[in-house]
Amino acid sequence: MDLKPIFGFIFLLIVVFLLAMYWFVPFNSGYFSITSSPSNFSLDNNSDMQFYSNMRFPESRISYRIEDCTLQKKEDIQRAFEFMEEKTILDFYSVPTNEEIYVTCSSKNVRNENFLVAGEGGPTKSIVAGKFVVIFEGQILLIKDSKCPEPLIAIHELLHVLGFNHSENRKNIMYPIISSTCNQELSSDMIDLINELYSIPSHSDLILKDISASLNRRYLDIEATIWNYGFKDAPSSILKIYGNGKEIKSIEVSSMEIGEGRSISLSNIFVSQLNLEELELEVEANFPELDKENNRVILEIKK
Ligand SMILES: [Zn+2]
Repeated sequence: MDLKPIFGFIFLLIVVFLLAMYWFVPFNSGYFSITSSPSNFSLDNNSDMQFYSNMRFPESRISYRIEDCTLQKKEDIQRAFEFMEEKTILDFYSVPTNEEIYVTCSSKNVRNENFLVAGEGGPTKSIVAGKFVVIFEGQILLIKDSKCPEPLIAIHELLHVLGFNHSENRKNIMYPIISSTCNQELSSDMIDLINELYSIPSHSDLILKDISASLNRRYLDIEATIWNYGFKDAPSSILKIYGNGKEIKSIEVSSMEIGEGRSISLSNIFVSQLNLEELELEVEANFPELDKENNRVILEIKK
């Protein structure tokens, strides 16, 4: 018996069935649009007072090291640290190496000429992390002796390191010239700003941005970026993608430094759901963050 026609017929049936599946089963193709946009920490713009808005060190406890200073100047700078500790929630501590604030009284030790534009103190290493500028290092060059009961020059330079710009108000400690009448003060709005900035916990903050997704029948392409907009390096996390509430794919995101961004591009992800309407991206992080809401974005297919 010749089986060829039978096999040929079965083959034809399979082809017809697949074609029918292809044409009549409702797949959808198209682009997704974002329905829930990631939020982020909201803070008022304070660029008037600081070089950039929202400048701060990663933590309210800030380390320092003093080198090549006379006893008088060393005492001045230590009293400046104590003064700031009394007025604000900041804490300063001395370290033998790897300091955040380097204080010197000899101009030959100045490592970075750029910071001198702001006088004799300022941040020397910082990075933009979303709405914040995170200061990693600062430097103070203390040349002049203080003749006031409070070490106004040292406090003025320390405030530059904390990101504060000059003030036009003659009574303000950030006025460019420290007056011999010793009447300049640390204003309450500066104290408030420092306390507001440093009461934000020193957490990392992973945020999903620039998301786009497109579906071509059963295959999904996704582009996204993940940023760490917090005050701490973020350990590894997992990016999970859900389709109509069911997990489609998950990938590991390795640890990210403060201010670091990573772009993620996934293509040809097979989707088993027949009618993919809603797509959700979520960065699962099992560590504290400034904001967990911005780890998640929901997208809906455009009709
Ligand atoms: Zn100055």
